[in-house]
Amino acid sequence: MKICVLPGDGIGPEITAEALRVLAALRSDGLPIETEQALIGGSAVDAEGVPLPQSTLRLAGEADAVLLGAVGGPQWDGLPRDQRPERGLLGIRKSLELFANLRPAILYPELANASTLKPEVVAGLDIMIVRELTGDIYFGQPRGIEQRDGETVGFNTMIYSEAEIRRIARVAFGIAMKRDRRLCSVDKMNVLECTQLWRDVVTDEAKAFPEVRLTHMLVDNAAMQLVRNPKQFDVMVTGNMFGDILSDEASMLTGSIGMLPSASLDASNKGMYEPSHGSAPDIAGKGLANPLATILSVAMMLRYTFGQEEAAQRVEAAVKRVLSDGLRTADIFEEGTRKVGTTQIGDAVLAAL
Ligand code: NAD
Repeated sequence: MKICVLPGDGIGPEITAEALRVLAALRSDGLPIETEQALIGGSAVDAEGVPLPQSTLRLAGEADAVLLGAVGGPQWDGLPRDQRPERGLLGIRKSLELFANLRPAILYPELANASTLKPEVVAGLDIMIVRELTGDIYFGQPRGIEQRDGETVGFNTMIYSEAEIRRIARVAFGIAMKRDRRLCSVDKMNVLECTQLWRDVVTDEAKAFPEVRLTHMLVDNAAMQLVRNPKQFDVMVTGNMFGDILSDEASMLTGSIGMLPSASLDASNKGMYEPSHGSAPDIAGKGLANPLATILSVAMMLRYTFGQEEAAQRVEAAVKRVLSDGLRTADIFEEGTRKVGTTQIGDAVLAAL
């Protein structure tokens, strides 16, 4: 189990340090985990002049999985576009061909008050959004801004091949099989031919997964249903652009960005795992960051890349235990709970583990 760890910038090193302690505990319990660290983002720019050094790419390519903290910060915002920390992220996703983005939105009952929705609507929420990550209008050609008939126009191309749709559908059906076996595919087939093909191919792929109940929903309705009755969903699958928007909407249902992990997988289940939040420069270096999203990313890694379901559940149960014991970092603190820092939450997770 070779894991390339990329702490990155801001709170990245603090939160990955806690995840590394969890990995070390699992190693001492017998899992053959090896970790190696490398630079990415602003810290790589400072040390080597580029956000994604070749040595980092090589290490990530040789590993079975990558664990990333976060990249970016105001001190690098003025750099030319190709030297920006975020470029490191895009570069690694592209080079590892990570086409399937998994974004769970889970709201632990203990944190129901963190949501802006009524607790009865969101408490116990557990959705997995599967977003296609390497195609769609974000990458389609032709694209540009040009002069046409004396007027400036901007244009992009929404495009998906059957093979691209089929492989993301397969990932989503596979995940649904490991959960409640319900999959909702989101498209805009009433207006966009590209997504008519999407619906046809997903429907066809369903034949290989007779135990999964497949439904379809138009994206505008899906956006409404996510705030009206989010618990109706188990797994959702959609294209790059719709998934970008819906996964952010779904994560905000939980109200606690410091709790949400994510995964991006390739065709062989090799993956990059990272918290859904950024580098939080406002609290970096203060020992205040919530490391639970990163620790839960380790649980996703154990489940999806290494097939270690039992270990994944152990890590998730440890996080739940810490919450039910009433420990909270500042971002999820409320009256009646105990406010602690990054390392103390890590200590508590290790003790629960
Ligand atoms: P952010 O997610 O870093 O922070 C938003 C707010 O949430 C801040 O108040 C922050 O303190 C808080 N927060 C985030 N994670 C937290 C945690 N684990 N514990 C406690 N509080 C937490 O988003 P932003 O402020 O828009 O971006 C900051 C930097 O991060 C920017 O440079 C941006 O480009 C970068 N960024 C990186 C990634 C990534 O690495 N994947 C994603 C988003 C943003």
